[in-house]
Amino acid sequence: MDEKELIELKKDTIILAHNYQTPDIQAIADFVGDSLQLCQQAARVDKPYILFCGVDFMAESAVMLNPDKTVLMPDLGSKCPMAAMLPAERVREEKAMHPDAAVVLYINTWVEARAESDVTCTSANAVKIVKALPQRKILFGPDANLAWHVQKNLPKKEVVPIPYKGHCRVHVRFKKDDLLSLIAEHPDAEVLIHPECRPEVQEIADLILSTGGMERHVRQSKARKFIIGTETGLIYKLKQQNPGKEFIPALSSAVCVNMKKHTIDKVLTELREKKNVVKVDPALARRARKSLERMLELS
Ligand code: SF4
Repeated sequence: MDEKELIELKKDTIILAHNYQTPDIQAIADFVGDSLQLCQQAARVDKPYILFCGVDFMAESAVMLNPDKTVLMPDLGSKCPMAAMLPAERVREEKAMHPDAAVVLYINTWVEARAESDVTCTSANAVKIVKALPQRKILFGPDANLAWHVQKNLPKKEVVPIPYKGHCRVHVRFKKDDLLSLIAEHPDAEVLIHPECRPEVQEIADLILSTGGMERHVRQSKARKFIIGTETGLIYKLKQQNPGKEFIPALSSAVCVNMKKHTIDKVLTELREKKNVVKVDPALARRARKSLERMLELS
């Protein structure tokens, strides 16, 4: 496809892509960011169609924030397995057992479950959101590693992970020993780790950051070399923005197959056909939107 055809196809559509998308998709997207940045961007869209290159819960958030727009996905099968670890029923059970707790759910959660929450969060703002709540006890799900990170930063709160061992299949594969070997090989590198990684991996990082946080930090840092502990898709963007700096993946096989279900061919087909419409039950969307809007107010 030539540049002219792409511009024509994008006249009525904005393309939002997550940092974990492949370089060719990032290159034609109007905006590339982490879950929080994509939510903020989705709330400002001025075209009738949003083509969302990310997993299901992100596209559903875009629907909730834009009920009068049509949200499309290149592949409707792009779903986050972590979201499935916390069904709405489990949230209701936990709420009944802990009536004094606020419920904070990571954006990587099904809409039905988020409709049961007080406020949504992302890895970029989880500490800030929990800190802002008046309740001491917080039910936090579904990522137990992110819950650990929040608890560590806010020792006066009681953060209860729901479920007990919810996790991202990509980020739990980072291992402490592998990271220590890499640090020994590159002692001059700054080590940036995502809070979905295990506690023992987080503990040896220089900084724990969301992908958006990594991007900001790398731009400002005086360091020339970085070990990046997240899905490898982010490295393309970091290289584009920082041509003089070096990036080493903490695990080169850290690839989210669900994010990668979108391909450039599927993106272009969807731009032309507009068939894969993301739908969210309107009643559920209204309830879950309150939790999402509260997050955007507190962010
Ligand atoms: S990287 Fe992990 S949390 Fe993110 S979409 Fe993939 S499986 Fe879900």
